[in-house]
Amino acid sequence: MSKQEEKQIAIVTGGSRGIGRAICQELAGVGHFVIINFMTDEPGAQATLAQVRAAGGDGEVLGFDVRETQKCETIIEEIIQRHGQIDVLVNNAGIIRDGLFMMMAPENWRKVIDTGLHGFYNMTRPVVEQMVRKRHGAVVSISSASSFMPNRGQANYAAAKAGLNAASRVVAAEVARLGIRVNVVAPGLIETDMIQDAPKDQIKTMIPMARIGRPEEVAKVVAFLCSEAASYVTGQVISVNGGMV
Ligand code: NAP
Repeated sequence: MSKQEEKQIAIVTGGSRGIGRAICQELAGVGHFVIINFMTDEPGAQATLAQVRAAGGDGEVLGFDVRETQKCETIIEEIIQRHGQIDVLVNNAGIIRDGLFMMMAPENWRKVIDTGLHGFYNMTRPVVEQMVRKRHGAVVSISSASSFMPNRGQANYAAAKAGLNAASRVVAAEVARLGIRVNVVAPGLIETDMIQDAPKDQIKTMIPMARIGRPEEVAKVVAFLCSEAASYVTGQVISVNGGMV
């Protein structure tokens, strides 16, 4: 088998910063060629690629919006034409638009669900279709502790992430016999741009480890789930949250 055929191709949505950037670095560190998706922040995605290369890995940057169903299909076809296959998909892109449910504007309900849940569909369906042909692949999606807990102001986000958990379990059951594993990582509070306005001191009192997590601590679990070391793990939602139950 040639080097080209051995190369594992991973695509990570929302790789321009935060948890997505750490996942790109971690996957590159264990030998994947990483396709780093962004929506608006191309310099951020280029910075992720520079860090990947500085650590001896490789990848490429690809801008598109995971909310666009047709665009995602086309992009995935192009990646497969260029690289032969996709071995790993990490659905990391996500947004928050918090607000009390009674006052929640329809666009804030829709945007969060479009990104977090429809984005999962738009990416995972075409990727899994080609993984089924190869009888090989791993999908990991980033959910949230908010999918289990009633955090006020996050009805939209909780709905998107709980939907992601449920859909992932079903897809996992559908493709388990075909050599494809589908799992979810549910982080607690992680130090990224997303939580810059969160009341961290107040939230820390709810975390048994009494600290906020680091993006690398999520990325390591994602990389494990993508690896052969997790060959008998599928349909699971794994919390990475400092001990919250
Ligand atoms: P972040 O720093 O705000 O980064 C979000 C990433 O998602 C960015 O790369 C952004 O791209 C990308 N993105 C947003 N909408 C997109 C779209 N429509 N298409 C493609 N990319 C899109 O967030 P983070 O904290 O790293 O969060 C990453 C994931 O972890 C999210 O799913 C989030 O819900 C989840 N999570 C985070 C925490 C936390 O405490 N931080 C906790 C639990 C779960 P651009 O920059 O190019 O716009």
